[in-house]
Amino acid sequence: MTRTRLRALAAPLTTALVTLAVAGAIYIGTKAPRTASGAETAATPASTPPTASPTPEPSTSATAEPDQHATPSPTRSATSGDGPFGSWRTTGGSHVALTFDDGPDPEHTPRVLALLREHGVKATFCLVGVNAQAYPDLVRAIAADGHTLCNHSWNHDFNLGGRSRAAIRADLARTNEAIRKAVPDARIAYFRQPGGYWTKSVVTVARELGMISLHWDVDPQDWRRPGARSIAKQVTTATAAGSIVLLHDGGGDRRGTVEALHTILPNLTRRFDVAALPAGDASH
Ligand SMILES: [Zn+2]
Repeated sequence: MTRTRLRALAAPLTTALVTLAVAGAIYIGTKAPRTASGAETAATPASTPPTASPTPEPSTSATAEPDQHATPSPTRSATSGDGPFGSWRTTGGSHVALTFDDGPDPEHTPRVLALLREHGVKATFCLVGVNAQAYPDLVRAIAADGHTLCNHSWNHDFNLGGRSRAAIRADLARTNEAIRKAVPDARIAYFRQPGGYWTKSVVTVARELGMISLHWDVDPQDWRRPGARSIAKQVTTATAAGSIVLLHDGGGDRRGTVEALHTILPNLTRRFDVAALPAGDASH
């Protein structure tokens, strides 16, 4: 897909998001949009969240708030998370969860898996349906290593939450089918909305399909490729007990993220209990 084509797609997307934001129907994360292929669209208007965002969310920046992690709610459930529309912004316990989005990717996912194995860390992978379909061996490798699986929509659709519930359901179901074509008994207990553009509809449909909506509280913006040192610094300084850390193993050149893991993994495992999110039960 060319840049020209991306720009052509960005304008209507921006219009749709602004419309939704003004209507108060959408949550705008701090993460700027990217394309399905992961190519950043930073030069386009779509990269700037509409100013009419009804729920500014300062805590999705890399600055975590340790106090909010210290006392997880005893009433925490799949639908009463501390993120937008009841999604999970933190783990609800003291353990830290690393999450990797936009894969699987033939170049970077195997490297991430090798590093996680080396450090004895289980993580959570938010898979894009088209990538799961293209790289079933990598889906199997992720599952075989004991990591938790998460649905990240069929084609990284930023505007999924604004579509009809039937369309959302079809998209999420198709993605789960692609994952289960690779791993027939896969448990897929989480959904993450691309770009963090949550809506009540998308959270509701995900829940109906047995998936907890998974937000985050630590975002080093690694998809912008700020360099390994920046990514590592952001993550190691912002992570607190209970943090959900957003990283990317797919969607573009992730060498900086992979390199940063050489610092992040020993640092976090020394300070926290780093664990995959609970995989969920087999019926989902
Ligand atoms: Zn993504």
